[in-house]
Amino acid sequence: MPPADSRPPLTPGTLYLVATPIGNLEDITLRALRVLRECTVIAAEDTRRTGQLLKHFDLHKPLVSCFHFNEARRGDELLDRLRRGDTVALVTDAGSPGISDPGVRVVQRALAAGLRVEAVPGPCALIAGLTISGLPTDEFHFVGFLPHKAGQRQRRLDRLQTVPGTLVFYESPFRIERLLTELREVFPERQVVLARELTKKFEERRQGTPEELLATLRQRPLKGEFVVLVSPA
Ligand code: SAM
Repeated sequence: MPPADSRPPLTPGTLYLVATPIGNLEDITLRALRVLRECTVIAAEDTRRTGQLLKHFDLHKPLVSCFHFNEARRGDELLDRLRRGDTVALVTDAGSPGISDPGVRVVQRALAAGLRVEAVPGPCALIAGLTISGLPTDEFHFVGFLPHKAGQRQRRLDRLQTVPGTLVFYESPFRIERLLTELREVFPERQVVLARELTKKFEERRQGTPEELLATLRQRPLKGEFVVLVSPA
């Protein structure tokens, strides 16, 4: 690796998608730190949260918010900046921007405008959960969050019955029991892995059928963030 000061500067007019830790600050990459240090501006899903990250690493950079509800308007401003030759780092609350969080639309618009988009890869809950699951990784299907409405959830789950490979869901702690109850209906015999609080102090992996996992949850409700993985048929 060349010494830090001989590395080429960031490419003007580039949107950098910077992955940030999903719970353990040691997981930030050297390249992520450099891009955050050298870019013109950081577009963040939550400026307060990203502000804390910057403070921890003693980085001082203008922050603009870019979240779900202002993505369209903010996208225009970011594209203008990129056209002028600025370098923009897009970060979301945790993990890889664009994976079940705002960012996709800005990327699509930047690409459509012929602008350069670069990934600064790093933590991603999907990959962390999949790799510790012990389930097949050669073929997997990322579902992310299911819709909230009961009917839509049911239809989505029904369609997944014929999808090959390991299924990977994101779920909030408030709906984990609901998801397991639904999985019990659709996939009663399959092995399910709960990957909880990945990279954090109370990281935990639990495996069983949906019914077995529901039984353990009834004994002790689980808090925190989850990746839920379902073994292939
Ligand atoms: N972009 C992120 C990524 O690359 O993983 C995901 C953002 S999404 C809004 C947040 C969801 O990711 C959580 O509800 C949870 O399902 C999952 N997640 C994030 N951090 C996690 C962690 N440390 N352990 C387990 N799951 C996590």
